[in-house]
Amino acid sequence: MNRKYRKTVIAGNWKMNMLNSGIKPFMEELKANMPKNRNCDVVLCAPAIMVPAMIKAGKDCKVAAGAQDVSMYEKGAYTGEISADQLSDVGAKYCIVGHSERRQYHGETDIQVNIKAKALLDKGIVPIICVGESLEQREMDLTMEYVAYQVKTALSGIDAAKLRRCIIAYEPIWAIGTGKTATSEQAQEVCEGIRAVIRKIYGARPARAISILYGGSMNAKNAEELLAQPDIDGGLIGGASLKPADFAKIIEASNQEC
Ligand code: PEP
Repeated sequence: MNRKYRKTVIAGNWKMNMLNSGIKPFMEELKANMPKNRNCDVVLCAPAIMVPAMIKAGKDCKVAAGAQDVSMYEKGAYTGEISADQLSDVGAKYCIVGHSERRQYHGETDIQVNIKAKALLDKGIVPIICVGESLEQREMDLTMEYVAYQVKTALSGIDAAKLRRCIIAYEPIWAIGTGKTATSEQAQEVCEGIRAVIRKIYGARPARAISILYGGSMNAKNAEELLAQPDIDGGLIGGASLKPADFAKIIEASNQEC
């Protein structure tokens, strides 16, 4: 982390877990375990229908609510879709786009990720743009090339002013939900590489200011080491964000001086 230039963000991804009735008890336990002073923004990305309950219950411990996906379309005959305007209407402040599970199970492409990120920015929602390589790509030494392509495509047509409201999450696919974490060196190397890609497009200042998160089996035990890396500005956390005490420990790990 480098708090001199950018925000630290600890974001949870609840995926398709939890019920509205579980949010209040979750927040109470989170609050009880939360460090007294905290040095990061905390976000929980829930299924969109749970965003209002999340906002209500999260007020007390200053947890912002986010969604996990958004439609590429503005409005109209797209049954089952939820637009950026509708997310904004219920108070979502953040939204994940391009999560590897959406890419894998719903065929989401880099171009779609770009359209979705722009739709969110237009409605004042912070896109958490996920990128990351497969195990095969890593083994073929294609990691940085592939991730650079994903970042460039996702940010295409987004100007420097809007970039300031974006978050990038580096999530190696092989580390998501597998219990296999990237080493802090591997994670730092790619996050540094992502910043270099952004520097090339936007220049030094915007690159220095953007928060880049690591995601992939981050937990209460490994968070401190990962978050100590200079280009890792927080975490996108799946499994461990469902356990309030563990999530609070990750928040606490982000308090360290770097
Ligand atoms: C995720 O879903 O973005 C994620 C990183 O999951 P996990 O922490 O469970 O690997």
